[in-house]
Amino acid sequence: MKIIDPSFQIQDVLDRKGFAARLEECGRICYKSEGLMDKDSALPFVRKIAAHGHNSVLEMAVASLQVQCGPAQTALLQVCQPKFLMIDQLDDGLLITGSIRSFRELYMRCPDNLLVHRCTAFLAGSHPYLFEGVWDAREAWEAEEGLAIRKLSIDEVEKLPASLLLRHRYVGVKFVVNRAVTHELVRHRPCSFLQESQRYCRYSQDKFDNQVTFIKPMFFAEDSEEYGLWVRAMAETEQIYLRLLETSTPQAARTVLPNSCKTEIVVYCNLEEWSHIFRLRTSPAAEPSMREIMIPLAKELRSRYPAMA
Ligand SMILES: Cc1cc2nc3c(=O)[nH]c(=O)nc-3n(C[C@H](O)[C@H](O)[C@H](O)COP(=O)(O)OP(=O)(O)OC[C@H]3O[C@@H](n4cnc5c(N)ncnc54)[C@H](O)[C@@H]3O)c2cc1C
Repeated sequence: MKIIDPSFQIQDVLDRKGFAARLEECGRICYKSEGLMDKDSALPFVRKIAAHGHNSVLEMAVASLQVQCGPAQTALLQVCQPKFLMIDQLDDGLLITGSIRSFRELYMRCPDNLLVHRCTAFLAGSHPYLFEGVWDAREAWEAEEGLAIRKLSIDEVEKLPASLLLRHRYVGVKFVVNRAVTHELVRHRPCSFLQESQRYCRYSQDKFDNQVTFIKPMFFAEDSEEYGLWVRAMAETEQIYLRLLETSTPQAARTVLPNSCKTEIVVYCNLEEWSHIFRLRTSPAAEPSMREIMIPLAKELRSRYPAMA
């Protein structure tokens, strides 16, 4: 068995890659199949995922659209009650940020709404593979006077005034933590998540070095009796898990794995939600293993974005 410390990585390099690369790299965490990525793998991966309905992968990339439009069109959009989108009024229209999934599903619900139709046509025009089965290019309408759409780059989003920056800048963080911490992380509902799957991952395989990895608990000093007991429990559990895998599937064998098991999870949300998470998860009332990872992350993100509370 392997024992490692918890860690996190802010996905800022990934943010600057295209939609497909972001979706693939996050999606492959579930299967721990990052080793299969190459220059041609992203599009087939994303197509397959979308066709299979593994929908949360499509939440892992957002687009910020500056939509020039009038008050009548804005009012009509509100009638659709867009979900999971950040929408703010600008002088000459709207700033709309949403994930690929939220744009796809908004179109499926309100295909006849002018702004929804235009935003979908704009995104599907440059990324047709993201809207396969949802959007048909033949559905394009005549150009509408006074309506224009432009996608903001990450650099442009980063230069927005504080109130807009906090709502429209989405930041992904990949955590390597134990499963008790991820049980708590996934309670934060405005976030999107993708997590290493114990149903698909078989830790007896070579790519896992044929062993189970555990996160070192911060509760026990390494030379204490308690730490010794914990190591013994993990070693015995690993033995039983590997034995079960000889005759059972990973989803059956995982039933013996404990909270200390290492897992990877991507948490993706805007800076406003990160501020909320930090308020709850760095306070003295929070779980100590959560604080262990959240306090340094909060320090890092707040230094990058001083507008965060
Ligand atoms: C110290 C501590 C102890 C805890 N103990 C327990 C426990 O014993 N048992 C347990 O089950 N949970 C426990 N929790 C989890 C806690 O109750 C929350 O579910 C979790 O922290 C998510 O935070 P949140 O609900 O504030 O906001 P998030 O889910 O992060 O949502 C962010 C914001 O969105 C809004 N929002 C999202 N969804 C809704 C909604 N459906 N209705 C209205 N507003 C919404 C709210 O404004 C919210 O502030 C604990 C959390 C902490 C920090």
